Amino acid sequence: MQFKIFEPNIEVNGSTVFSIIAGLGYFTNLSRRYFSQVGIGTVINKQLHVDLNGWYPQAAWLEAFENIANQVGDRVLFNIGLSIPAHAQFPPWVKDIHSAIQSIDVAYHLNHRKNGKELFNLKTGFMAEGIGHYGYSKGLKENQIISISNNPYPCAFDHGIITAMAQKFNPFATVTHDDMAPCRKKGADTCTYNIAW
Ligand SMILES: [Zn+2]
Repeated sequence: MQFKIFEPNIEVNGSTVFSIIAGLGYFTNLSRRYFSQVGIGTVINKQLHVDLNGWYPQAAWLEAFENIANQVGDRVLFNIGLSIPAHAQFPPWVKDIHSAIQSIDVAYHLNHRKNGKELFNLKTGFMAEGIGHYGYSKGLKENQIISISNNPYPCAFDHGIITAMAQKFNPFATVTHDDMAPCRKKGADTCTYNIAW
């Protein structure tokens, strides 16, 4: 189910929050209203300020996304997702479309923490649970990847992230939401995206 946290005490880091709000238009009324009203960022002189070294509750973050979805629509969530890879840092092993899609889950865990502890350890490669995943599997056809999202972020947002990551290496890649599969927007636990190029 989109927007519902899996576990309490999960936080998202300030640089992720900043890059997402920057993608939206950092100083716009939209960012100010949707994020400051759930306690994310502080408005000073009509501008929203985010602590880059801070951590923000995932529950509040998702609440802002839900308000955006209800009041502005999925298109904005898709565009937020699309803007993320432009700002994010990726591990050095990201070299093609396959590793790009695999890296989404790592980056996702690097940017969240539970009870004050980061969910991915870069040194050991250990990944802790608590926020769900972004999946990767090879499709049946050549030049095809299936990515199943089971995490609390919205369907349209993930569609945007996966599209941007796929097109980073294959500009002509297409990412289609599998409408025949379960969808978080309809209350299911997962969404399935079909990546082809
Ligand atoms: Zn969906």
